[in-house]
Amino acid sequence: MISNEQKNELRRRLAGFLLEEEPLAAKTAYKVGGNAAFYLQPKSLPDLELVLRTLAELELEFLVLGAGCNVFVAAAGVLDRVVISLDRGFAGFEIIGSDSWSVMLRAESRVRLSRLVQLSADEGYSGFEKLASIPGTVGGALAMNAGAYGGTIYDSLAAIQIMEKGGLAWWSAIRMNPTYRDGGLTAEQVVVAAYFLLERKSSLEITTEINEIKALRQQRLPQGYHAGSVFKNPAGDFAGRLLDDVGCKGMRCGGAYVSKEHANVIVADKGVEADDVLALMENMRTLVRDRHGVNLESEIRIFS
Ligand SMILES: Cc1cc2nc3c(=O)[nH]c(=O)nc-3n(C[C@H](O)[C@H](O)[C@H](O)COP(=O)(O)OP(=O)(O)OC[C@H]3O[C@@H](n4cnc5c(N)ncnc54)[C@H](O)[C@@H]3O)c2cc1C
Repeated sequence: MISNEQKNELRRRLAGFLLEEEPLAAKTAYKVGGNAAFYLQPKSLPDLELVLRTLAELELEFLVLGAGCNVFVAAAGVLDRVVISLDRGFAGFEIIGSDSWSVMLRAESRVRLSRLVQLSADEGYSGFEKLASIPGTVGGALAMNAGAYGGTIYDSLAAIQIMEKGGLAWWSAIRMNPTYRDGGLTAEQVVVAAYFLLERKSSLEITTEINEIKALRQQRLPQGYHAGSVFKNPAGDFAGRLLDDVGCKGMRCGGAYVSKEHANVIVADKGVEADDVLALMENMRTLVRDRHGVNLESEIRIFS
């Protein structure tokens, strides 16, 4: 728990960026869950530096919220950690150099993936095609190593700018160690910007690939509030196949149900409670463990 002394220090030292009891449900994919006891919205790099230094001095842990597309918030909310959101700034987006073959793009953390994909299509800059229809921000996608159809956001990454309690650091893409659905960031690191090296290619070719991916995704993913895949694929198999095999499609807990189109997607219905989603996840996991001996790992990041 955050002690009264820590709370008072937060209020005193970070008053300009601090909200208390901020509701999180509307900011996340399933639209459920409680409040952030302390919610910080730094607008600039110096603000963020101050925030991280202060949290380190107060020995407080934090969670960063992007667009919330892969985040589930527990019913009780986030009580023991502070939530940081960069949604008051960090939206810079510019081409910083180009030649006849390539283009270097700088995109700050809060830039939406859809904007990157649109730029690829409009200008003929190849590198973001596989991200078509994946919702979220640059920061969230780098933290998650987001991707689909054999490509991820790291494929065109040249470098990343990260803020830590010690200040701003540059990491070349080679220094990063992304693994399947995990960018490999530590809990103390906040992505502030990324540099992407894109290849020039015909706009028509890029647009065709993007449209094909969008059409495929539209067929496979349900309508309604959901966060895409709930569980990571275990080595050598697909979580969706295992979940389908044990009869998860259509399974329901309260207002949360497993999509009939995709056994690895939970959809939040009207009146859903956070505990419904958690209970359904547990049931799905148990069925797969009992029949196949496989422990499914959550792809969704749980904020509690
Ligand atoms: C309909 C739908 C379809 C989806 N399909 C896919 C898919 O095909 N492939 C795929 O990979 N994902 C998919 N997702 C999941 C989601 O879109 C991605 O994980 C996305 O990258 C999350 O970005 P975000 O900004 O919403 O991050 P959030 O969901 O807000 O956060 C995700 C994680 O990133 C961390 N984070 C966010 N911003 C920062 C930052 N600036 N610095 C450090 N850490 C940060 C958070 O702490 C959290 O751990 C899907 C989601 C939905 C809703």
